[in-house]
Amino acid sequence: MLFGAHVSIQGGLAEAVQRALGIGCETLQIFTKSQRQWAARPLAEGDIRAFRSACEENGLSKTIVHASYLINLAAPDSSILKKSRAALVDEVQRAHALGIPYVVVHSGSHRGEGAAKGIARLCESVSLVLEQTSDCAGTMILLENSAGQGSTLCGDLHELGEAVDGLAGEKRIGVCLDTCHLFAAGYDFRTERNYDDLQGLLVSLGILKKVQVLHFNDSANPLGSRVDKHEAIGSGAIGETAFRYWIADQQWLETPAVVETPGGIENYRREMELFKDMRSTG
Ligand SMILES: [Zn+2]
Ligand SMILES: [Zn+2]
Repeated sequence: MLFGAHVSIQGGLAEAVQRALGIGCETLQIFTKSQRQWAARPLAEGDIRAFRSACEENGLSKTIVHASYLINLAAPDSSILKKSRAALVDEVQRAHALGIPYVVVHSGSHRGEGAAKGIARLCESVSLVLEQTSDCAGTMILLENSAGQGSTLCGDLHELGEAVDGLAGEKRIGVCLDTCHLFAAGYDFRTERNYDDLQGLLVSLGILKKVQVLHFNDSANPLGSRVDKHEAIGSGAIGETAFRYWIADQQWLETPAVVETPGGIENYRREMELFKDMRSTG
C-alpha cells in the first residue's frame, strides 16, 4: 500500500508535493482548483512543469485529483447536469496535463428521482466525459462510494456495482472506496470476519477488481449513521484496528490509500507514521 494525504495546493502545485513529502507521504491527493467553484483559470505551463518534475524526482506516480464537490453527474436539473459534465471534462484534462492518473468524483445525487434513474444518468454522464477526453489516455475516472446521506448514490454498494456494470465497456473507469463512507453506509469491517465478508461482497458485485484508490478516514458517527463526517484515524467510531486488515491484505499492495481527516498537517504526519508502523508489523 502507498500511503498519502489530501494536501493543500496553497503556494502552488509543486508546493503540494513538498508538503506531502514533508509529512512522510508516498502519494498525494489534491484539488487542482477551488473545490467549491465551477470555473477555474487554466493551469499555467510553469506550474504544470514544476508539479510533474517534483513528482518524477520523488517517484510519485499514483497521484490523485479529487474533483469539485459541486459536480453532480446524476442531476435531474439539466443545467446542473451540463455544468457537471463540462466540469469533469476540465478536471480530467487538468489531471492529464499534470500526469495524474486518477480523478476521484462523487457518484452524485438523484435528488428524489430514485436510484435507478440516477445510476442511468451517472453512467451516461461518465461515458460522455470519457468520450470527450479520449485524448487523455492514462487518466481514469474513479467513482467514489458515498455515506448514503440523503439522495446520494452509491452508499449502497449494489448501486455502485450497477454503475460499474453500466460502464463495463469503459477502460478508463474505476472505483475509489472511502472507509468512512462504507462504515456510515452500514458496512462494518472492524473485525477480521467482517472485513472478509465485505471483501466477498465487493467481489460478488464486481467492484473489487475496479478499485484503484482507497480513502482512509475514520468516521465521526456510528455504523449506519449515513452521515459523511470524517474523523482522525483512531479517534472515530471505526478505530485503529480496522485499518490493519486493509493494510495487511496483499491485494492492496500497490494501491494508494489517502487520508482526508481533520486535524491538519500534524495529524496527517501521525497517521502516516501509524500506517507505516502497521505495515511493518503486519
Ligand atoms: Zn473520500
Ligand atoms: Zn467524505
